[in-house]
Amino acid sequence: MSLTAFTMITIANYIGGVWTPPRSGRYFDDINPATGEVMARVPDSDAADVEAAVSAARAAWPAWRSMKPAQRYEALHALAEGIRRRLDELAALESDDNGKPLWLARSVDIPRAVSNFSFYAAAALHFGSESYEMGDEVLSYVLRRPLGVVGAISPWNLPLYLFTWKIAPALAAGNCVVAKPSEVTPLTAFELSRIAQEVGFPAGVLNIVHGRGASAGEAVVMHPHTRAVSFTGGTRTGRRIAELAARQFKKVSLELGGKNPNIIFADAPYDEALRTTVRSSFANQGQICLCGSRILVEASIYERFRDDLVERARALKVGDPRDPDTRVGAVVSESHMQKILSYIALAREEGGRILTGGERVAVPGRCKDGFFVAPTVIEGLAPTCRVNQEEIFGPVVTLIPFADEEEALSIANGVEYGLSATVWTQDLRRAHRMARDLEAGIVWINTWLLRDLRTPFGGTKASGMGREGGWEAMLFFTEPKAVTIQL
Ligand code: NAD
Repeated sequence: MSLTAFTMITIANYIGGVWTPPRSGRYFDDINPATGEVMARVPDSDAADVEAAVSAARAAWPAWRSMKPAQRYEALHALAEGIRRRLDELAALESDDNGKPLWLARSVDIPRAVSNFSFYAAAALHFGSESYEMGDEVLSYVLRRPLGVVGAISPWNLPLYLFTWKIAPALAAGNCVVAKPSEVTPLTAFELSRIAQEVGFPAGVLNIVHGRGASAGEAVVMHPHTRAVSFTGGTRTGRRIAELAARQFKKVSLELGGKNPNIIFADAPYDEALRTTVRSSFANQGQICLCGSRILVEASIYERFRDDLVERARALKVGDPRDPDTRVGAVVSESHMQKILSYIALAREEGGRILTGGERVAVPGRCKDGFFVAPTVIEGLAPTCRVNQEEIFGPVVTLIPFADEEEALSIANGVEYGLSATVWTQDLRRAHRMARDLEAGIVWINTWLLRDLRTPFGGTKASGMGREGGWEAMLFFTEPKAVTIQL
């Protein structure tokens, strides 16, 4: 029976191929942020559940590790196809759980989860390692062996998309996984466990433990047999995980927060820059780590761009995520909505002018108790004030004028974060200079969110450590060993 056929779901952990209730018997509620209704009971798992998952993963590892690449390809490909077959159902769950428009979950989140598994299924086939000859006498080669059991911890903003972005390369490289999805959006991860069982994915190779960060999440990080942890989430959590992992010299990959600049020069392709800026500001209610939350505009076009952006932002329909005309759905929770609204209040205190938005939106009907925030554009704030320095992670952007390239760069780099940056210009040389000098792991020129899964993905400074994507993730999830032979 499909999950959506239930009105209230009780989620179970997936350990050793079996649905398992939390050892403690405790659950907490999963809320639909567009309606305020309780949708599911989520296991409040702790170290005992993680222990069971790690032990199932360890038992499954020898068989998984020694599989031929083609067999691993088949197993991952089956997961991709299993997700593809459930596209509509998964998209509905994702939208209900997160508040994002259904069309967005259908066109972006779930298709990307399919791509993550199919991309890394192919990687399992193609992954290899290098060899070196020293004259005729010496041959060295590198073994890249899987690590064993690894942990994957993911956030709520792109739930299945980011969960599978970690799980797929870990499995492709020959590891068994203990994965903990965000407790705020657990539904599609639970559904993934059903798909794994349905397609006959080997028991114990992928284990999913639900629960809160401080209990289940930390237990994954602390367990002596999780050899690496791949984490995506907030910078403060990332720091805590790095500290815990350092005690055990455990490998970590940390994809953290951002305060990304979107830099618009006067020679930008104007209409495209404007259209894309609306998207990079408000897509997924501004809850994408790659959203451009600081919009830097060259002084000579500042007023025109500002007025056009405000007009477009005002026209975005905020409403029921199931309505195909909705452009901005609910933010993920009541507490997150309060955090966003508190930053808008802070912007007022810091002397900012709210040009549009700035408040909660009441959506009538089914969504009358939902958590909606109007797309908000703010100007008049110093680049150094808190609103321009701290990650808000909602549909809120600020506008900052700049005089020239040098000033744009200094404002762009003047934050603790360094995840992504977008540059709009037709000047080829300037585009390359900016790409070189921006402190960011990802730079887009005249586009945004265009992803080639082969490229390294991640941030610098407080935006993270390590890279996902392409071979980077395969390297992270393996241990190199140099072997040298005297011939
Ligand atoms: P979060 O840090 O609160 O939680 C992320 C995950 O970590 C959740 O599964 C949570 O349960 C777990 N967790 C929390 N505390 C933990 C602990 N002490 N030990 C182990 N696990 C713990 O983040 P969030 O609010 O879910 O997500 C929003 C944040 O994620 C934003 O800062 C956003 O920028 C960031 N993000 C970054 C990227 C990226 O690729 N760089 C992508 C998406 C989101």
